Amino acid sequence: MDSVQELKNKLFFQKENGCLTRTEQELADADSFCNDYKAFLDAGKTERECVTEAVRLAEAKGYVPYDPSVKLNPGDKVYLNNRGKSLVVCRIGSDPLDKGAMIMAAHIDSPRLDIKQVPLYEDKELAMLKTHYYGGIKKYQWTAIPLALHGVIIRRDMSVVTVAIGEDEFDPVFCVTDLLPHLAAEQMKRPAGEIIKGEELNILIGSRPFRTDEKSDRVKLNIANILFEKYGITEADFLSAELEIVPAFKARDIGFDRSMIGSYGQDDRVCSFPALRALLDHEDVPATTQVVLLADKEEIGSCGATGMKGAFLRYFFDNIGAPYGIAGHTILSASKCLSADVGAAVDPTFADAHEKLNAAYLNYGPVIMKFTGSRGKGGSNDASAEFMAEVRKTLDDANIVWQTSELGRVDLGGGGTVAAYIAELDVDTIDIGVPVLSMHAPFEITSKLDVYETYRAFGAFIK
Ligand code: MN
Ligand code: MN
Repeated sequence: MDSVQELKNKLFFQKENGCLTRTEQELADADSFCNDYKAFLDAGKTERECVTEAVRLAEAKGYVPYDPSVKLNPGDKVYLNNRGKSLVVCRIGSDPLDKGAMIMAAHIDSPRLDIKQVPLYEDKELAMLKTHYYGGIKKYQWTAIPLALHGVIIRRDMSVVTVAIGEDEFDPVFCVTDLLPHLAAEQMKRPAGEIIKGEELNILIGSRPFRTDEKSDRVKLNIANILFEKYGITEADFLSAELEIVPAFKARDIGFDRSMIGSYGQDDRVCSFPALRALLDHEDVPATTQVVLLADKEEIGSCGATGMKGAFLRYFFDNIGAPYGIAGHTILSASKCLSADVGAAVDPTFADAHEKLNAAYLNYGPVIMKFTGSRGKGGSNDASAEFMAEVRKTLDDANIVWQTSELGRVDLGGGGTVAAYIAELDVDTIDIGVPVLSMHAPFEITSKLDVYETYRAFGAFIK
């Protein structure tokens, strides 16, 4: 090697495709980890189902529901189920709580179509449901694909009906219809954001009329009758329901080399699952207390009692510190957080959305984002150089494949995560996440190696 090359090796920042730096065994480990991840994706298509599945996995590892009246001791494993829609999972370390906690935060809600409170109608002798989309979607992507219906209905007598229709291969599915191209000359002149408008995201749910002599709404009546016979609900019960329309397809391998995963809802279950597993797979009692936080409502601004702007995390720290006379804010101020949310991977077809020095690529590992936000970093948590350095050292020392990026080129757009709301609690916080292709589409793509390296990065962080 000539001296110029040696000098370049010494001085230049170099990145390499992780598939080239990992052993065959490590790639096989990544593939095997992702089989568990795909099962998690299929089991959890809504925030509620993700909480249920995460609780099941945690309980299998000895975690029990948190009881604020019980003082926690080193090694104790607890979870706090917040209204069935967000979750705190915690392992108490041997250090005193005022040494803080290592927090891994991700969100379990994903963009989707929510059923309106008064949704059911008949038009042209077809039965339909009105929807209101949730999160940032390209509406046209949700037409003409098989859709499933998930959620809960609370009846007038407060009894709960849990719904998941369209996942079993023998289940019916649902659909948003679209206009045939032959007659779409006017539709195709609409701006892309209005090719399908919000009030056109209507779900087709039936077509056979109730067989009587009554004149109007006989298809609607037939559907209402089926819903009553099958679920014991009437039209008014939609008032107190949370029903979510999600793609009906399952997580699949992508590519001849099976190196990638395609699935609905990878933003942000692709960070939630590795974070949870890193905690559950940690065998010994840790020195520092470990926390996984799975939040709801990130896609609509982290609002509400189950979103990261809510107080549940603060209250949890208040409660675990109280028996020791340690204030929750004292624990938080000494804590560190990896706020895990997906990054935008460079798509070769749309590469100019990125600035190539500061862009994320598939198979280059989890992306560390010092800041997110839009315009002049608006709305972001801009992590300090000191904390960035700590994380950098942790990942390098553990031989993790990782990269850094911004979310696209400056002024093109942007986005936020839960990081800002955790940082506001006086917690050193930085964004990390798996790069994703087709983010927020009904079928999002990640690399298996990136998912696995993210899991390993969490494991190194909480050690
Ligand atoms: Mn996200
Ligand atoms: Mn998102």
